[in-house]
Amino acid sequence: MGTRSAKLDVLLTNGRKGLFAVASIAKDEILIDLNGEETLSSPTKRSLQIGEGKHAFGGEETVGYLNHGCEPNVFLDFSCLRVRALRDIRAGEEVKINYAATEYEMHDSFQCDCGSPACLRMIRGFKFLTRDQQLKLKPYLAPYLLTRLDGEA
Ligand SMILES: [Zn+2]
Repeated sequence: MGTRSAKLDVLLTNGRKGLFAVASIAKDEILIDLNGEETLSSPTKRSLQIGEGKHAFGGEETVGYLNHGCEPNVFLDFSCLRVRALRDIRAGEEVKINYAATEYEMHDSFQCDCGSPACLRMIRGFKFLTRDQQLKLKPYLAPYLLTRLDGEA
């Protein structure tokens, strides 16, 4: 099983569960460790894709309620399989990751209303992004998606 920082907690807001900072977090801080997390061969609503046919289970104690944001404040650092803060995060902020940087094809696509000017609107996975949108994600991409990106060039 993976582990989660005590600075995060699952909270229910507007009828939806999400992962929130309950203390201030510094940029680069490790928030979730996916090492040891059970993996599945196909995606679920709560899983996070970490490789070809490899999906981190996404338990309540790790990324199960880590929601999507087109302007995320955390990312999955694949060099160590840990979720890190992209910037300083205030207590009370929801932490969000960009699903398009990990999921090739989402288990459930949805209409995003994150409010970011960079909002991708329909979130369906990396496969459905334009090449420009894919290139913008390059620093945060799962290695298995990086292979696809470079392969197309
Ligand atoms: Zn969005």
